[in-house]
Amino acid sequence: MDRLWTDFVNSDYHDWRGGDRSEDRLGKKEWQQRFLEQWKMSASIPATPEEESVMRIFRNELQTLATRLSAGESLTDKDQKWLNGKMAEGQVIRRLNSANEGLELSLIPVQGHWQQVMAEVAADFAITVVEGDGGRIRICDNTDCRWIFYDDTRSRTQKYCDDKMCGNLMKVRRFRAKKKVAQQKE
Ligand SMILES: [Zn+2]
Repeated sequence: MDRLWTDFVNSDYHDWRGGDRSEDRLGKKEWQQRFLEQWKMSASIPATPEEESVMRIFRNELQTLATRLSAGESLTDKDQKWLNGKMAEGQVIRRLNSANEGLELSLIPVQGHWQQVMAEVAADFAITVVEGDGGRIRICDNTDCRWIFYDDTRSRTQKYCDDKMCGNLMKVRRFRAKKKVAQQKE
C-alpha cells in the first residue's frame, strides 16, 4: 500500500526489471508536481538546489530507518528525536470538518514549503509506527526493485511490491534458473 512516506522514499526509483532505468526522481520537476498533487500539499516547484539537497538527506535517512525497522529493529531514542526535530519544522492547525460519516478532525499544514512537506512525511512515518506496525514495513524481495511498502495484508506475508509485476518476474526467474540446473544435469 502506498503511503505518503513510502511514496516520498520511493522517489529513489530502481528499475525492477533489472535494466538501466533506475533514477533518483526527487529533484525532477515532474515528480515534485505529481507528489504534491497526489498528497494535496503545496510548495514551490522546482525545489531550490538547497531544498533538494536537504530533502535528499532526509529521504536517505528515512530509507535507512525504514530498512532497519523492516529487519525487525525498533525505533531508538535517537530516531525518535530525529523524527521530532523534523516534525517540529512544520506547523499544523486543527480543524473539524463534516465528512460523509460524521465529523472528522484534520490537521492542516500551515505553510506551503518543502520543510512542511518533510514534516508531513515524518509525521506519516510516525503514524505508521505508532498506529500501525513498524514490523509490517517491507522492502520488495526483488533485489533490483527495493520498493519500500507497508504490508497491510492479513497474513503479513507480502513479499513483493506488486505480485503482478515483481512477483511474476521472480517466478519466471526461478523457473529459468531451475531449467538451467536441470539442463546442466542432463
Ligand atoms: Zn518490487
